[in-house]
Amino acid sequence: MTELYDVQFTKRVGTRDIRDGIKNAAPNELCPYCGEGRVTELDHYLPKSLFAGTTVHPANLVPSCHDCNFEKKAYQPGLTNPAVLHPYFDTAFTTNWLAASVSESSLHLPTVKFTVKHFGSDPDLEARLNAHMDVFALRRRFSVWAAQSLTNFEGYLRTAHGRSMTLNAARDHLERTALQQSGERANSWEGAAHEAMRASDWYLSGHLGLS
Ligand SMILES: [Zn+2]
Repeated sequence: MTELYDVQFTKRVGTRDIRDGIKNAAPNELCPYCGEGRVTELDHYLPKSLFAGTTVHPANLVPSCHDCNFEKKAYQPGLTNPAVLHPYFDTAFTTNWLAASVSESSLHLPTVKFTVKHFGSDPDLEARLNAHMDVFALRRRFSVWAAQSLTNFEGYLRTAHGRSMTLNAARDHLERTALQQSGERANSWEGAAHEAMRASDWYLSGHLGLS
């Protein structure tokens, strides 16, 4: 079946239409695994090297960005490996489970760290969400992207508009930015990052000196 996929499914025009249809089904071409990358390929939810029988099953083909597909590799869910979220079947994509906080690095610089909110009532879901973050390297990738958000805000504070900003005005600005960046999307890293910046006394008062 794997050979069928490689030779027949990826090369023939008829099946290319099916593959393109699945890729184009992602809203706004956004990768459903990370919510940020642009869809460029199809991921085999269950790896084709291990589950040949599911290779061409549409439910096993998930639109993905290159980075998520690369990080996931041939991850195989099992007894000790919780399954990552499946965009077709999991409702957790629409509940807010992503949290972020600003902390001080060893170089005394701000850094944004991402975690999964604690689900005391559903430890299985919490384990799957943590696996999702780990398998797609989302803690590292979100933190790298959020570093740009920190840089952008500090740059804004140096502009004519930003120079006179008070602590309260900065909190309002970051709250608006969080809403604008996340829109109605749950678990937006940008929304979580700006909310974390807004909530951090150390970042706003201690590091940036706002009052
Ligand atoms: Zn992605």
